[in-house]
Amino acid sequence: MLSGTEWMDDAACAGHAGIMFPHPSDGAGIAEAKAICAVCPVARPCLEWALARHEQHGVWGGYSEDERERYRRRLRREALAARSGREQLALFAPEIDPEVTLR
Ligand code: SF4
Repeated sequence: MLSGTEWMDDAACAGHAGIMFPHPSDGAGIAEAKAICAVCPVARPCLEWALARHEQHGVWGGYSEDERERYRRRLRREALAARSGREQLALFAPEIDPEVTLR
């Protein structure tokens, strides 16, 4: 993941900020913003930037607000599934002794 903002220099939406922040119920507006993202050479770092900062508004990396939230939830589920039972227990039920429970 890029930590800087150098990728923004190549943003296809430069100068189109008004288009990139449609109302969440404005399907046509979201589609218009996504069409710009579809030809953007920095869509991936843009999406990573938005996910890392929990950007609440606008279309970033070709993902609407709702889509980013679903994507974020999927990433959380996958990260959780990758954890061992012991790690999950420590995370969600720290009061339970894994030595007793996970034999
Ligand atoms: S992916 Fe979309 S929002 Fe991100 S920089 Fe490119 S055009 Fe802008």
